[in-house]
Amino acid sequence: MSAQFYYLRRPDINPAIVGLRRLSIRKNMNKKIVMSGIRPTGFLHLGNYFGAIRNYVRLQEEFECYFMVADLHSLTTHPDTSELKSNVHRVLAENIACGLDPEKAAFYCQSHIHETGELYLYLNMLAYKGELEKTVTFKDKVRQSPDNVNAGLLTYPVLQAADIVLHRASYVPVGKDQEQHLEMARTYVNRFNHRYKEVFPEPIAFNYSEELIKVPSLDGTGKMSKSENQMATLYLADDDDTIRKKVMKAKTDGGPTEINSIKPDFIANIFQLMKLVSSDEVIAKFDADFNNCTIRYGDMKKQLGEDMVKFISPIRQKATDILTNEEYLKEVMEKGAAKARRSAAATMEIVREAMGLKYF
Ligand code: AMP
Repeated sequence: MSAQFYYLRRPDINPAIVGLRRLSIRKNMNKKIVMSGIRPTGFLHLGNYFGAIRNYVRLQEEFECYFMVADLHSLTTHPDTSELKSNVHRVLAENIACGLDPEKAAFYCQSHIHETGELYLYLNMLAYKGELEKTVTFKDKVRQSPDNVNAGLLTYPVLQAADIVLHRASYVPVGKDQEQHLEMARTYVNRFNHRYKEVFPEPIAFNYSEELIKVPSLDGTGKMSKSENQMATLYLADDDDTIRKKVMKAKTDGGPTEINSIKPDFIANIFQLMKLVSSDEVIAKFDADFNNCTIRYGDMKKQLGEDMVKFISPIRQKATDILTNEEYLKEVMEKGAAKARRSAAATMEIVREAMGLKYF
């Protein structure tokens, strides 16, 4: 089923209903809908930028976009809300500093859209306990916090599916860690469409490059993360010296002893990070040095540190400025929520009807 079909079924933008807006709507009908979110559980990092935000910034030019601060999701693992407000402000400011334009995309807070809770409830009836228990992220969280295995954590992918399909979105810009959740969202969509009526498009995880991205941590043990492994994660708020220090601490070894050898994982990670921020010439130089066994990892890390500083420092400075303007952040959130509510209300009308919940 094409995205165009879903547009036609949306009363809020149906040409038959809003005749005067016909021309601009025709243009919009070719637009797919995009939705994604980031949890306010700490400082944003390079993984958030390259896995998600960089794509938001491009997608907002071409598509109807809904981007949200996933505050409800954060409650599944962070029940202490004493820092929630400042974290929400920070996520808003850092996204805007990275280029997200609230004039182009709806940028809002998950808890401000009450329809999400209703759709989450309906989708929960289509999600089975056995499947949810097998989710990799759920199993990880259970291992990390065995004393807080709450039902919200188990049904995290259902809430995520509700966020996405609430806008009948087709594209979901996310990092590789979200692949399984997107697969689950498609399962719920198919179950809903099959059991009731074709309402939702199948959402797919989206990245402009050929593959979904996982930005590795500097110590090569996992991925960059807001709350874990902080010394091996580069945050968009890190100052220049911290960035240099973290990069210099990245794990290396004595260097290859045979020409054209295979890079160990932790070295491949450093090259991967370099590919995100350094020029092609710089990468080619260190690649050649590695292949002919003359590489000096100290020089490579120094270069990477400088390139990271060049990349991160303007974002940090912009975000710091935006954070001081609370009035602006409030306006952004209210305007984004109003737009997201319109889209959500239109979807829920269709959902209730499809489910047979309309009695008159
Ligand atoms: P989270 O920080 O878990 O709320 O994730 C927000 C977005 O950033 C999601 O789209 C994630 O897939 C993405 N993301 C988080 N960490 C990484 C990483 N290390 N590499 C790539 N993408 C990531």
